[in-house]
Amino acid sequence: MTTNRPAAAKAVKLSTSDLSDAGSPRRLPLPAGVILNRIDWPVAASILTYHLVALLAFIPWTFSWTGVIVAIVTARLTGLLGINICYHRLLTHRGFKCPKWFEHVLAVIAICCVQDTPARWVAVHRRHHQYADEQPDPHSPLVNFIWGHIGWLVIKNPELNRIGIYDRYAKDILRDPFYVALERNWLQLKIILVQWAVFFGAGFLAELAMGGTTMQAVQFGTSILIWGVFVRTVFVWHQTWAVNSVTHLWGYRNYQTDEDSRNNVFIGLLAHGEGWHNNHHADPRSARHGHTRWEFDTTWLTIRLFEKLGLATEVVGPSPHVMAKAGLTTGQTITTLGPNGTPTH
Ligand SMILES: [Zn+2]
Ligand SMILES: [Zn+2]
Repeated sequence: MTTNRPAAAKAVKLSTSDLSDAGSPRRLPLPAGVILNRIDWPVAASILTYHLVALLAFIPWTFSWTGVIVAIVTARLTGLLGINICYHRLLTHRGFKCPKWFEHVLAVIAICCVQDTPARWVAVHRRHHQYADEQPDPHSPLVNFIWGHIGWLVIKNPELNRIGIYDRYAKDILRDPFYVALERNWLQLKIILVQWAVFFGAGFLAELAMGGTTMQAVQFGTSILIWGVFVRTVFVWHQTWAVNSVTHLWGYRNYQTDEDSRNNVFIGLLAHGEGWHNNHHADPRSARHGHTRWEFDTTWLTIRLFEKLGLATEVVGPSPHVMAKAGLTTGQTITTLGPNGTPTH
C-alpha cells in the first residue's frame, strides 16, 4: 500500500494551516458524485435497526446486570481485537505479521463488529490515508461532523464502488481465499447471525443450568443477545466512527502533517489508542499509535503481548526519524548519515 499523495490530489487541497492556530476549521465539499438523497437503504436500515433494538436493553424485561457486563467486556475485546488490531493495524497497514489461522480468527471477530468485510474496510481506510481531508477522502469531517461520523456510510458514494476500490486498494487482501469467500455467498451475514445465536444460546442455557424456567431462560437469553450483540455493536460503531470524525477536528498535534488529524485524549483512551490519530497519520505503518509515555495505547500493548506469545512477528514500531521531527524519542539511537555515508551524530 502507499500513503504517498498523487500530485493531482495535492492540487485540490485547500489550506494546510494548523487548526489549533487557525481558530475555525476549513471546509470541504462532499466527495465528487455524492448526492445527499441517494441513500444506501440496506446500510441505513441496518444501522437504524441496531440502534432501535439496542434501546430495548433499557426496558425492565430485557435489562440484566449480567448483560451490562457482557456488553462492556465484549465491546472492549471485539473493538480492540477485530477492528483495531486486525482490520486497522494488521490488514490495512501491515504493522506486524501473524499466523494465518490467528489472522482469520481476528477477522471473524471483526466481522462480528458489523463494519463490513476486510477488503471493504481496508480499501476505504487506505483511500482515507491517501486523500485525508481532501475532497476524495471518504469520510472527512471537514465536510461536516455528521458526514464524517455516519453520513458517509448511509449516503451512496460512487467513488467507493466495490470493484473500483478493491482493484485499487485491496488486491493484497483478496489474494487470500478466505477474504474472497467473505465477499460472497452471504458468508458475512451468516457469521453475524451465528453470533446472535451464540449469545442468545449462552444466556438461555446458563439460565436453565441455574434452575430457571424455559420462559426465564428465553428472557435471559434475549437480554444477553441485546446487550452482548446490539448494544455492544452500536457502542463499537460510534467508537470507530469517532476516530473518523472527532480526531480530524479536535485535539492536539504532535506532527505538522498535511491533513488535519489530531490526537484526542478522550478517543485515545476510549478506543484503545486509536485516538492518537495525528501520530498515526504521521507514521501510518507503525503498530504503535501512542508516541509519548502517557499516550496510553492498549492496542499496542496487546500486540506486544501477542509478540511475547509468539503470535505476532515483525512488529513495526514508530520510526525514530518521524518522532524526531516532533522532538520525541523512541529510546533508540538515531543515526543520520552525511553525504559521504558517515554518521553525522
Ligand atoms: Zn484519519
Ligand atoms: Zn490508518
